[in-house]
Amino acid sequence: MQSALDKGNTANPAKTPAPSTAPAEGGVSPLNAPDRKYSLERTRNIGIAAHIDAGKTTTTERILFYTGLIHKMGDVDDGNTVTDWMEQERERGITITSAAITCYWTQKQEGLNKLMGGIPHRVNIIDTPGHVDFTAEVERSMRVLDGAVAVFCGVAGVQPQSETVWRQATKYHVPRIAFVNKMDRTGANFENAVQEMRKKLGAYAYPVVLPIGKEDYLRGVIDVIDQKAIVYDDKDAAGMKYEITEIPDDLKERAKTALAELISAVADKDDEIAELVIEDKPIAPLVLKAAIRRLTCKIEFVPVLCGSAFKKKGVQPLVDAVIDYLPSPLDVPSATGQDPADANAVVEVKSTDMGKFCCLAFKLWSDPFVGKLIFFRVYRGTLNKGDTIYNPRTRKRERVSRVLMIQADKRIEVEKTFAGDIAAFVGLKNIITGDTLCDEDDAVLLEPPTFPDPVISMAIEPKTRFDRDKMSVGLQRLAEEDPTFRCFTNEETGQLIIAGMGELHLEIIRDRLFREFKVEANAGAPQIAYRETITKAAEGEGKFIRQSGGRGQYGHACIKIEPNERGKGITVENKVVGGTIPKEYIPAVIDGVHEAITTGNLAGFPMVDVKVQITDGSFHEVDSNELAFKMAGIFALKDAVKKAGAILLEPIMKVEVSTPDEYQGDLLGDLNRRRGKVSGIEAKNQATVLNSDVPLAELFGYATVIRSLSKGRAAYSMTPSHFEQVPNSILEKILELNKPKAART
Ligand code: GDP
Repeated sequence: MQSALDKGNTANPAKTPAPSTAPAEGGVSPLNAPDRKYSLERTRNIGIAAHIDAGKTTTTERILFYTGLIHKMGDVDDGNTVTDWMEQERERGITITSAAITCYWTQKQEGLNKLMGGIPHRVNIIDTPGHVDFTAEVERSMRVLDGAVAVFCGVAGVQPQSETVWRQATKYHVPRIAFVNKMDRTGANFENAVQEMRKKLGAYAYPVVLPIGKEDYLRGVIDVIDQKAIVYDDKDAAGMKYEITEIPDDLKERAKTALAELISAVADKDDEIAELVIEDKPIAPLVLKAAIRRLTCKIEFVPVLCGSAFKKKGVQPLVDAVIDYLPSPLDVPSATGQDPADANAVVEVKSTDMGKFCCLAFKLWSDPFVGKLIFFRVYRGTLNKGDTIYNPRTRKRERVSRVLMIQADKRIEVEKTFAGDIAAFVGLKNIITGDTLCDEDDAVLLEPPTFPDPVISMAIEPKTRFDRDKMSVGLQRLAEEDPTFRCFTNEETGQLIIAGMGELHLEIIRDRLFREFKVEANAGAPQIAYRETITKAAEGEGKFIRQSGGRGQYGHACIKIEPNERGKGITVENKVVGGTIPKEYIPAVIDGVHEAITTGNLAGFPMVDVKVQITDGSFHEVDSNELAFKMAGIFALKDAVKKAGAILLEPIMKVEVSTPDEYQGDLLGDLNRRRGKVSGIEAKNQATVLNSDVPLAELFGYATVIRSLSKGRAAYSMTPSHFEQVPNSILEKILELNKPKAART
């Protein structure tokens, strides 16, 4: 039987897609510009996701080596790897920022690609942060990649945190292949790892390679589909030399069984293979691979590979599998965005070179040699050096003078970028992470610019006075890179305040300040970012009258305040008629009102969602001036708030806990003690998932508690959700604690 595959269709093999996206001869569809070197079909944007220590860095390093980029392999333990650009990542062992690296791979074996004449594929590896605190960062990196390699430890199998990483990928609909690493370690057990993927992750996971030997005797892997052995030459330290040979006798039976199981698993989900099985016809390796590709792209199947990144075994078949099974930009649903002119209009952005240019800036990076790099993924169209791009957020245009692609530690200048490409702008200004940059004639907002407000803050000061300017510059630079991080000066105290999404977030900012900007900083204790608001309408009056010989002061204002809709913020309107406050003094009153609102009235936290109307006042021909009216505005607001039922609001986090059943009771009890409101309990993939809303103030140290309550088996993630009134029983305590702080700040 001849499948669509045999005609050279790798983008959407067998299930022929709509005519407009159907690849032409040679596997290149008309969606590609004629002058591009690597077609959309031959592009892979992937992430490598793993539990800390499973071997993500080592595996990435090996892939870069085999794809020909680095000539000396770095070992993590020597601390010279390519992807962990930030020193602190090496120390902490967690990857915080996304770097994107481009590499190229030509399959040597019988891959699907062979039908396209052995032409190289371009693989962009986007580094995904492994820590749940960096929600915005995880979300953005998941958005720009089309597929992922999930790395597991062959000894530990599916660890609690691998469940979190896996669930994140599921949430963002990222197709995956799995790599069971560390097969050379004592106690490595491939079958067990696969079973755990099925049991703990609910993955429809089946091996496409098997290990030959294990621990010290790991010699290579068996390609289940081709029924061949790949045996490495142990004398070649780089792991470049291997032989494709017959499967050793003692493993023949096992390899056959694995193939039969694989075919049967695929047949259960894929009609084409099911038909061949029913008719008892032979299934050619490429036909089976094409079916696995279809299912993997639809997230219905997880091909599992194995090896040892450290011992350089099994990495080449892994890169082959990236090409064979993970989607190209054409195999995933189109990106969607918003029409900047109409927030309700959803716009589809198809992957094609033929439309108007549109890309997402997903990462800002200060490169020590070339300055600020803005990493972007092109979704549609092409961009030439010298073109002008439009930023719908700022409504500004900028000319693109330089574009780079990062290949390990090399920066390659490119003249033109195409759909699906990942590259970096140099020298553009006024761009923040998450901006869409596009053609002005067909503007789209891929990520509407709504970043959650910070929920935690702390005062920060340089250890030496002379570093203050350097620190401001550093903080500003970091805020540009990360829209969920803010820094500002408290006008009253002159203290610098940093604010962000969690304790660890701010700790890392301080670390980066030290490492990248050489400023050591002292920080105060973390403070919850409470807000104040009012519950009823009230009127207020403010007078600032001084008569002390000479010229006096006279300002007098009356205002009305009422609660504004949640999320509407502060609005101040002038309703003064008949010139009781002369026009030229109105801005001063408004200033005063704003000042009193931002410094708060209950416990010194800024107010939100208040509508203010300036209604009346009086003036003095000689003594009135701007300062006096500003003071009148401040007093009037304070007077009104006293009568308006002021309340304190606290940040509430959405907390999702995933746990084996047996710990459910203890974890629920603990959430209750933390004033958590449980909104749902669901059974999912062999685990129980508890969804709840919990005040951030009750979540300090939660990581430790959840670990001890569940013997390390439960995993959780939290994201800021909304603000809610602080219950009276707690309010007193907060007022007590914050009053002195409010007076200080
Ligand atoms: P990451 O935290 O997931 O990036 O993991 P690393 O790549 O930094 O690896 C963590 C540790 O495991 C390091 O000491 C590596 O040398 C080691 N390691 C990584 N891959 C393997 C492997 O295949 N076999 C063995 N024995 N050790 C490995």
